Amino acid sequence: MTFGIGTLLIGLALLVVVVALVMMPLLGPKTPPAQPASRRDALEAERAAIVRSIRDLDFDYRTHKVNEADYQALRLGLVQRGTDILRELDALEEAAPASAQEAAQDRDDDAALDAEIEAAVARLRQSAFSVAAPRAGMVCPACGSPVLPTDRFCAKCGYALRPQT
Ligand SMILES: [Zn+2]
Repeated sequence: MTFGIGTLLIGLALLVVVVALVMMPLLGPKTPPAQPASRRDALEAERAAIVRSIRDLDFDYRTHKVNEADYQALRLGLVQRGTDILRELDALEEAAPASAQEAAQDRDDDAALDAEIEAAVARLRQSAFSVAAPRAGMVCPACGSPVLPTDRFCAKCGYALRPQT
């Protein structure tokens, strides 16, 4: 019985360490420690982290460190999260537009990142039909809703999950 509790505590301690390690790169030196980061800043940081993760994952896949099934599943999750963040950023932008100065500063980075995520989504959509979509436990590449391997269209957004034959 004590073995179970000890294992649980070790697991929790490891989780804390992992979360701390994951969060550290997001808290760059540019972030003032006294000010809590705004939601927008947090999203921007997460988007950058996701772009890096996708890049790393692609590299691991090319170097055969990750198998096809894991690669497709992980990539789909990352791209879906990336599109969620873009959507939330767009919503924030509509609700409270950034100052013109701030927007001008960010524009170059934003354009590059947006293009990269969009390219990643496009690549995924191309490969999803042949590899990822027909498998169980997959989600719609357009909206992220769970879809069945037999579905031809996403029940939520109507996205064509399989090419018409
Ligand atoms: Zn959908």
